[in-house]
Amino acid sequence: MSAPKVFISYYVPWRFELSFGPSGDAKRRQADSHSSAKPVDLDCGIQVRGSIDLVERHPSGHIRISDHKTGKANGEDGQIIAGGKSLQPALYALVAEKLFHGELKVDCGRLYFCTSTGGFTEVIVPLDQYTRKSIAQLAAIVGEALDKPCLPAAPAEKQCAWCDYQPICGPYEEQRARRKPKEPLAPRRLEEKLYRHDAVLSERFRRR
Ligand code: SF4
Repeated sequence: MSAPKVFISYYVPWRFELSFGPSGDAKRRQADSHSSAKPVDLDCGIQVRGSIDLVERHPSGHIRISDHKTGKANGEDGQIIAGGKSLQPALYALVAEKLFHGELKVDCGRLYFCTSTGGFTEVIVPLDQYTRKSIAQLAAIVGEALDKPCLPAAPAEKQCAWCDYQPICGPYEEQRARRKPKEPLAPRRLEEKLYRHDAVLSERFRRR
């Protein structure tokens, strides 16, 4: 009988629930004491507020950023932002780069589906030029839509059920959006454009 495989990453947990932005200060229950009430401005123009589940340090001095998920693993192999559906690993890696600027190098953002439901799957998004390009493209397309302004709701199938904004949008936004003409929907064009972009980038990771 072969021995079970053991994966050792050498990353060591360092910061937990590291929050940034209003209501993300250290006084918030469970927030890491190094949290800050200041949001983080990224170079692409996006301002981010939120909370990083876990920052881990590697003996090399590098860090990785993890977001823990308890549901079924829905990350895509080789994804970067999955056509705009999965922004957290890339955005939070860029946020960490700002927070620890000049001190620590950020290796990657990571989704970790940390239950048996999620199969303990991890999706790693390296913080490299391709990730930076994806987020810059996202910022440019959303910025363009806001300038028009034309940024209507265009949820993907069954996404509203899990969305924190459902109390604002109401229970029927998905059905309502489906009845709208497709062409004027800027987010739908955004999704297609980013998917094509991601497909090229994912190919690169598969070749590694
Ligand atoms: S509830 Fe609103 S914000 Fe959330 S996915 Fe649906 S349309 Fe988008």
